[in-house]
Amino acid sequence: MQQNSEEGRRPSSVLRAPSPRERGEGEDIAIIGGGIIGICAATLLSEAGRSVTVFDRSGICEETSSGNAAAFAFTDVLPLAHKGMVKQLPKWLADPLGPLTIPPAYLPKLLPWLIRFWRAGAPKHYQASLATQAGMMRLAEAEWMGLLDRSGTRPMLHEDGSLELYESEAEFRASLSGWAARKRFGIGFRHVEGEEIAALQPGLAPRFVKGTFVPGWKTVADPKLLGKAVWAYAEKLGARFEHARVERIEADARGATIVLADGTRRTAKKLVIAAGAWSHLLARNLGDRIPLEAERGYNTTLPVSAFDVKRQLIFSGHGFVITPLETGVRVGGAVELGGIDRPPNFARSKAMLEKAKRFLPGLDPSGGREWMGYRPSLPDSLPVIGAARAPNVFYAFGHGHLGLTQAAATGRLIRDLVLGQTPPIDLIPFRAQRF
Ligand SMILES: Cc1cc2nc3c(=O)[nH]c(=O)nc-3n(C[C@H](O)[C@H](O)[C@H](O)COP(=O)(O)OP(=O)(O)OC[C@H]3O[C@@H](n4cnc5c(N)ncnc54)[C@H](O)[C@@H]3O)c2cc1C
Repeated sequence: MQQNSEEGRRPSSVLRAPSPRERGEGEDIAIIGGGIIGICAATLLSEAGRSVTVFDRSGICEETSSGNAAAFAFTDVLPLAHKGMVKQLPKWLADPLGPLTIPPAYLPKLLPWLIRFWRAGAPKHYQASLATQAGMMRLAEAEWMGLLDRSGTRPMLHEDGSLELYESEAEFRASLSGWAARKRFGIGFRHVEGEEIAALQPGLAPRFVKGTFVPGWKTVADPKLLGKAVWAYAEKLGARFEHARVERIEADARGATIVLADGTRRTAKKLVIAAGAWSHLLARNLGDRIPLEAERGYNTTLPVSAFDVKRQLIFSGHGFVITPLETGVRVGGAVELGGIDRPPNFARSKAMLEKAKRFLPGLDPSGGREWMGYRPSLPDSLPVIGAARAPNVFYAFGHGHLGLTQAAATGRLIRDLVLGQTPPIDLIPFRAQRF
């Protein structure tokens, strides 16, 4: 059920009676994590008239949600773990700067996650994840469109579609089973070649023999600016931010307690953990062991003048994309399964930028800003959205490559769970206890 947009814009003092915080009784709802997932949950709960405080050690959308590739990838329903991907692994792993790397020293720690990932690629599990992801994506699109309107951020939406590019007939043919699967879920696309490719993106090198245009793919002007604009709307509804690192959490039937790095404590009736790639560390406090890994991704954002990119360009064979933002041209992607502690290896962003220059010979690669982010990823490519083992705590993390895309839907689902309402999709595939 959508919130009425007029009601959503009323000042909080008109909307509700004094909150527990205003009455000196602690927080009503605390959210750990001010990334796009945490702030969408905060926004939907604030719209429902609840009093919300977001705790983050760095700020609103300052970490992984700040520098991603900006796609609302509503048509991207294929789980990552699949037989085709597993077949590609040896080739990819052989190239230390290729689409997928695993630092050798990290392999022993990663092994249990990799085994689960491999199992998730079995046809039975793959088909189940695909159907779940397709249902989630329908909700994701509906919820984002509603939230963009209510928060006044729709002008930040770009509806230009995407163009996926293939360098050989063999690469194109290998993609066809994935497109057939998407078609079963009603996703529109058109295979293109020759002049049609050139019309969709002038200036591409002639090496691309085929392409696929996906009209329903969308991007945003800049993911960090979108996150901050949605947060500004939440603040108008009464949501608050506290700049603090959470060290520890406790929960019982009366509510949750958050222990901050300075030793002070906050209490809340309900707690939402949306701490991205660090969420499992907090879940562990509550006795939940969740196999969350960080798929580290890299990019370089060039000045807007670097090239006239018409829509997001996807080079799946090389594991990266080029996105035209209002704030620059962003080149990057790749996956480095290297955990949350190791320093970034920006040779990876440089390698993708060099390839981008080969693919778009007119691209000016100078003046870029390099970045790395941590995709919070579970082995079956689905997030955790649901109740913790402890009472009064909910999880919202593990969206991997799709956190921006699925943020408003996750906010909606968390709102329903916190308010005790029936969610619009089955949440069993997303529960924390599935591992
Ligand atoms: C290169 C790259 C490209 C991507 N492209 C896309 C894309 O095009 N489309 C898409 O949908 N997704 C994309 N993603 C994925 C997307 O960025 C993530 O899934 C999403 O940002 C995760 O959001 P989050 O809120 O869960 O985590 P984060 O944005 O990481 O937020 C978590 C927050 O929790 C805070 N935190 C953690 N621990 C604590 C603590 N103990 N105390 C206080 N605060 C804490 C952190 O400071 C952080 O701000 C991409 C990711 C990468 C790396």
